[in-house]
Amino acid sequence: MIRIPILMYHSIDDSPAPACVRPNSFVRQMAHLRRLGYETLHLDAVYHYMAEGVPISRKPIVITFDDGYQDNLQNAYPILKKYGFCATIFVVTDYLGLTNRWNARGGVVQRPLMSWAELREVAKEPLLSFQPHTCSHPRLTQIPFVKVKEELSKSKETLEDSLGSPCHHFAYPYGDFNEKVQDAVKETGYRTACSVLWGHNRRGNDLFSLFRIGVRNQDRLSDFKRILGEPPPLWKYYWLRFRARLSG
Ligand SMILES: [Zn+2]
Repeated sequence: MIRIPILMYHSIDDSPAPACVRPNSFVRQMAHLRRLGYETLHLDAVYHYMAEGVPISRKPIVITFDDGYQDNLQNAYPILKKYGFCATIFVVTDYLGLTNRWNARGGVVQRPLMSWAELREVAKEPLLSFQPHTCSHPRLTQIPFVKVKEELSKSKETLEDSLGSPCHHFAYPYGDFNEKVQDAVKETGYRTACSVLWGHNRRGNDLFSLFRIGVRNQDRLSDFKRILGEPPPLWKYYWLRFRARLSG
């Protein structure tokens, strides 16, 4: 059965913050995906495969970025372009052109988010898909339900108006959701929603809590290989068997 890993990044920057991945690491990770023959997909293709059985590549992967940091365009996009990889960026519509202010009280470093003009410019090219991540990045299980509905629909409408095309995919801020929030996501017209639950996706999984694999700053290439769940090369298998036999 086909497994679909969905990678989750935030900032691609030379900062030591845990949610940032250094451009040098990012380029090594993308080169690794290329070496292993992964084919990047947009979430539309994932939806059509999981909901309708429309065939996809045997080795699919989805690359996502949360929040819409400007460095995604400056640092990640040139690398994605070099490999011909596509990616989805989930943006917080009220804060584009500003910073990640929803985190300001937690003492989190403030980083610039891309502007609407930058988003519209790069959206003309097919590699990047922009999807809503709410208007103001709240914890959706902790605000009044009428506000939840507003966050879901207003961010969708604003982004669709700006792009001139429909947005069908959503990512829960902080990965925070419950059944009621999921129902509201469905009712708003989304086709999928990304969580931060760890795992690979298979046909039959819940489309409104897609698993993702967060890539962290401290992840070395060996960690990255491990999270992709690639089987070890054959020589390693035989070597381990040989060693096991020696040790009786
Ligand atoms: Zn976020």
